[in-house]
Amino acid sequence: MKADATREEIRHVEEIIEKLGFRPHAMPGAARTAIGVTGNPGAIDPTHFENLPGVSEAIRVTKPYKLISKDLRPEKSVIRVGNATIGGDDLAMIAGPCAVETVDQVFTVAEAVAKSGAKFFRGGAFKPRTSPYAFQGKGEDGLKILAEVRDRYGLNIVTEAMDERGVDLVEKYGDCIQIGARNMQNFSLLKYVGQTRKPVLLKRGMSATLEEFMLAAEYVMAEGNYDVILCERGIRTFGNHARNTMDLSVIPAVHRLTHLPIIVDPSHGTGRNYMVNPLARAGVAVGADGLIIEVHPCPEEALCDGAQALTLDQYAELYAQVKAIHEILAKEEMVIAHA
Ligand code: PEP
Ligand code: MN
Repeated sequence: MKADATREEIRHVEEIIEKLGFRPHAMPGAARTAIGVTGNPGAIDPTHFENLPGVSEAIRVTKPYKLISKDLRPEKSVIRVGNATIGGDDLAMIAGPCAVETVDQVFTVAEAVAKSGAKFFRGGAFKPRTSPYAFQGKGEDGLKILAEVRDRYGLNIVTEAMDERGVDLVEKYGDCIQIGARNMQNFSLLKYVGQTRKPVLLKRGMSATLEEFMLAAEYVMAEGNYDVILCERGIRTFGNHARNTMDLSVIPAVHRLTHLPIIVDPSHGTGRNYMVNPLARAGVAVGADGLIIEVHPCPEEALCDGAQALTLDQYAELYAQVKAIHEILAKEEMVIAHA
């Protein structure tokens, strides 16, 4: 739509799309509103729209994904999560333990990371564990602890849901619904979170191609939830010196294709305490919009993923370093050229 298009003009275009039997997706931006069309089996004649009042141009998106695409929305999406945003000028720091264990553990980490640049707090209440005998998370009790963290420390809560019941609970207690790597292609779950009004942190599947990753985001958006944040968390390769192989080349590739922000998870990406900081720095250097970092007051006692958890001091050190890198990029206007 044109920058000065009125509400009525936008609504009129939506009605025309609905009359044709398709679904309109109006996405307001800083400069102008884009209206995506889905549900059409083939190409639609652009003359349906071109001459409507308020329309600037009608563009045919030929890629398999539409709503995520920069063809539809050239400007970057800035996603609101609670009282902060991801995808804007600031580097978004999400920090916290792998799993919610105790009130003490969670509050100790929250207090420390709130002082070191984090505006978002992570912590799983539902844990996707390889073994059914491993700690599965504290469930709703864990979510209640996270809700207290928001009240006490002003941090916005990012936490995983593994099924529909979990989504309902995370919607109630949290600020952002995390869909884990193992569920990236759980299409019914993607559709379900697409119908919520909470932002979604979508982690890349451990063997997902770029296209599969983008189409997973498209699933969420096709249901009408446009607040999707992507996350690279390492993929499985023949390399066995780290838990996963961080695929940092996906960051500029994602920025080239989509307006959605992408963050990096060097904790799961490496699985090793000593690799987390270097890969966090690298992630910021290649243009990540933020980081998600596992932190534990006493990593050797962690119930989950202790080998990759940073101590409170290590997190503070990491934050100082990545912030310095981010500031240089911003100053030199290197914050990634959206090619
Ligand atoms: C997590 O972030 O807690 C997690 C389980 O990560 P992933 O889904 O990337 O393995
Ligand atoms: Mn973990």
